[in-house]
Amino acid sequence: MIAPAKKNTDKPRCGLCGKAKNLIKTECCGNWICNDEHKYVLFSFATNSCSRNHRRYTLCGYHFNEGHKGDWKTCKKCRREFEPEMVAWYGTNEHNFEKMPDPPSYEPTHCSKCGTIINLGTDGYTRSGDERWCENCAAKEMEKRMRRARK
Ligand SMILES: [Zn+2]
Ligand SMILES: [Zn+2]
Ligand SMILES: [Zn+2]
Ligand SMILES: [Zn+2]
Repeated sequence: MIAPAKKNTDKPRCGLCGKAKNLIKTECCGNWICNDEHKYVLFSFATNSCSRNHRRYTLCGYHFNEGHKGDWKTCKKCRREFEPEMVAWYGTNEHNFEKMPDPPSYEPTHCSKCGTIINLGTDGYTRSGDERWCENCAAKEMEKRMRRARK
């Protein structure tokens, strides 16, 4: 391994993807991040914006937006606000600069219909009352309802 050239090391880089162009400091934690939010296309659900991902999908961003006091990693309010699985995901996913050292433990969520494990943070799912359906079951259910409606 060759050590990186010295002049590169003091250049700020996005703490999430490592790009060195067009950076801003995050409001929530003061880290360098890509200033790429303009790239986001409304309703496209693209997840290619570092700053947007950090703001929307981390406790750090949430904690700041909600005006909580103190450090997000130890904030009780944040932990109360979401179910444990989401606290763990928001606190440790790849959009974080720093990961939550002690994410809460949780029971995996299963699809109420077929029993598949649903990753609440990353999988698509449908909520129906107390039930949660994986994408497959939700699609089947929709089809059933459509057919019924047509009769
Ligand atoms: Zn970036
Ligand atoms: Zn932050
Ligand atoms: Zn908080
Ligand atoms: Zn299912």
